[in-house]
Amino acid sequence: MVAPGTPVKVLVASGNAKKLKELETVLTELGVDGVELVSLKDVPAYEEPVENGLTFAENALIKAREGAKRTGLPCVADDSGLAVDALNGMPGILSARWSGRHGDDQANNDLLLAQTSDIDEEHRGAAFVSCCALVTPDGREFTAEGRWEGALLREPRGEGGFGYDPLFAPADAPGRSAAELTPEEKNSRSHRGKALRALAPRIAELTAAPR
Ligand code: IMP
Repeated sequence: MVAPGTPVKVLVASGNAKKLKELETVLTELGVDGVELVSLKDVPAYEEPVENGLTFAENALIKAREGAKRTGLPCVADDSGLAVDALNGMPGILSARWSGRHGDDQANNDLLLAQTSDIDEEHRGAAFVSCCALVTPDGREFTAEGRWEGALLREPRGEGGFGYDPLFAPADAPGRSAAELTPEEKNSRSHRGKALRALAPRIAELTAAPR
């Protein structure tokens, strides 16, 4: 039994400090108290699992299950990408390595632009999608999805953000690309923010359960 008032530790299974910060902001906004987020840097190192699922949810669950199993902590993980209508939802789960090299944003963007150069304006719909998963050490599993609708631009715009942001024109920020939004503007609209806000009540429930 843990002393009352002791925060519940929750592992965020990501090497990206911004994701932990984003979840922290969402929990604060929603008034969720009593959760201490820890990152992969705060726990003994383990080999991260192969993301061989066929959906964002499967890949998020693979990462969250591994984190919970390896550390004994409830674990949150996410998987995300860009779904382009004219490409039947791809790059999708292959977004980070669409050009064949993991994490090469420039090559991924160049290839996507080349593939879609003949697509008319009215068929350039796209959405960023994020699935966030929570897995507890006793095997409870929850997922939540967030979508950010928009369209694919014809050339990169803006210096901010990362990944496909310079090619994405959000429907809720007319005239600007995602790379032209401030971090606050992006967080309040983004797929990941929506998925995290949808999952937050399940994280909050961890603070009520006997430990
Ligand atoms: P991850 O799930 O955070 O590893 O993201 C997978 C890939 O999807 C990234 O490498 C990016 O190419 C793309 N992606 C996911 N979210 C975003 C975003 O908010 N902006 C731009 N690209 C994104």
